[in-house]
Amino acid sequence: MEVLILGAGTMGRGLARALAAKDCTIYLYDPNPAARTAATQALAGEFEAQKCRWLEKLAVPPDCVAVIEAVPENLSLKKSVLAELAATLPEATVVATNTSALSVHALAAELPYRARFLGWHFFNPPTHLPLVEVIPTSFTAPAVVEWSERFLTSVGKVPLRAPDLPGFIVNRIARPYYVEALRLVESGQTTPEVVDKLMEGLGFRMGPFRLMDLIGIDTNYAVTQAIWEGLGYPPRFRPSWLQAQKIAAGQLGRKTRQGFYTYGSPDS
Ligand code: NAD
Repeated sequence: MEVLILGAGTMGRGLARALAAKDCTIYLYDPNPAARTAATQALAGEFEAQKCRWLEKLAVPPDCVAVIEAVPENLSLKKSVLAELAATLPEATVVATNTSALSVHALAAELPYRARFLGWHFFNPPTHLPLVEVIPTSFTAPAVVEWSERFLTSVGKVPLRAPDLPGFIVNRIARPYYVEALRLVESGQTTPEVVDKLMEGLGFRMGPFRLMDLIGIDTNYAVTQAIWEGLGYPPRFRPSWLQAQKIAAGQLGRKTRQGFYTYGSPDS
């Protein structure tokens, strides 16, 4: 089966790996040459790289069963990419957004193909985490939701439906894991290393700071921002100046080799 992935950053690249390993042919589109080079380097030598092809421009190959949008967590950017897709979208292709927290209805509203559009919220790294939140809108055809569940199951994922609320279910409940950890460090009374050691000591696979570095500090910040705005700015979800400062400094986590920690390579 052929799948087009829009955006070859942290998630696009991970999704390419995960789906290529399940016998999908992957088309990747990313207008940023640096992202393309980084993704090519990350996939170099891997078996999955042979199943990935780059598109020079945004045009959906005719046999694609699905398009997965994995561009940055920004409503207007996502809307414009999804609108651009309409011109070349084959009649039966399903389009899914991998947004973490934005309103799927807001993304869907003006799309001519909105009956074939829904949220597939994958988790990072998609090569290891099978869960996918499936988020239909009131425009999504029931057959498209059912097809999505069959397709995701066939590629080894575990699809579970979630409502179109800010952060859906997982990111809404997980938000304090990041926000409270950032508040503690902002207070100057502890450090990312201490917080991570304690949480990992308790049994969490990754402490919040190591996890934010894996996710991308810019992405994690944008997700908090979307949930905060979507819920009417409750103080408990206020985004952290510490993250804003890291973003301003270009320290985005593993993808820039510097976040709360320093890394030898994005995948180290
Ligand atoms: P990222 O910043 O790592 O990658 C985004 C990529 O999109 C970049 O390579 C960028 O060049 C590319 N891009 C920008 N404009 C584009 C366009 N017009 N067309 C195609 N590509 C374009 O971001 P990410 O962390 O991979 O996040 C992507 C989406 O996945 C976001 O909506 C995010 O919320 C969601 N998500 C992220 C994670 C995570 O842990 N990082 C987990 C689940 C969902």
